Amino acid sequence: MFDLVLGTNNAKKLVELRLMLPAEHYTLHSLAEIPESIDVEETGETFRENAALKATEQAKHLGRWVLAEDSGLSVDALGGAPGVYSARYAGRHGDDEANNAKLLAELADVPPEKRTARYHCEACLSDPHGNVRITAGGVCGGVIRTEPSGDGGFGYDPLFEIREYHKTFAELDLTVKRALSHRSRALRHFLPRLRRLVATL
Ligand code: IMP
Repeated sequence: MFDLVLGTNNAKKLVELRLMLPAEHYTLHSLAEIPESIDVEETGETFRENAALKATEQAKHLGRWVLAEDSGLSVDALGGAPGVYSARYAGRHGDDEANNAKLLAELADVPPEKRTARYHCEACLSDPHGNVRITAGGVCGGVIRTEPSGDGGFGYDPLFEIREYHKTFAELDLTVKRALSHRSRALRHFLPRLRRLVATL
């Protein structure tokens, strides 16, 4: 068994990450279980920089292997915003309702065919010394609705429609999100490399 700290305080992300990491190979620990864990500031300009910061700073501090991810939404009509600022788009970190309201306001005059967007996720593994050992990314395309729909998921999911299903991620079952999401796509690239790395330790 390989001991891995999941470097996020977002409970919904944790659920999704746990679903993708086979429990028979990895013993997963959340930051909530580790009182000495730190809050890492996301000062990077890209998802990859922020994922690396969250993984390496936490790993160095704890002296443990850490898997962190940074993710967010890029909307074409807004020049890629909110991007790395997705969690704090409306000001307060993690205020999903305010973020969604701001997104709708910003897109008020944008017609349906121009409301294209994509979620990004970058996953990063740091060794206990703070060295990046694996990075992998994933993207998932969709369209921003004109009003929220559904109770599942988190963040922008009630506004993010998957075209093929004509449903938002908040309306779709978590198994569908697990198959299609930016996070699962990143993890699909990440996991074979993690398996190979662990085999060499
Ligand atoms: P961070 O990676 O903790 O900086 O925050 C990511 C932010 O991007 C979240 O707070 C959400 O606003 C948004 N986000 C990332 N992934 C998802 C997702 O799967 N669904 C909905 N929103 C997401």
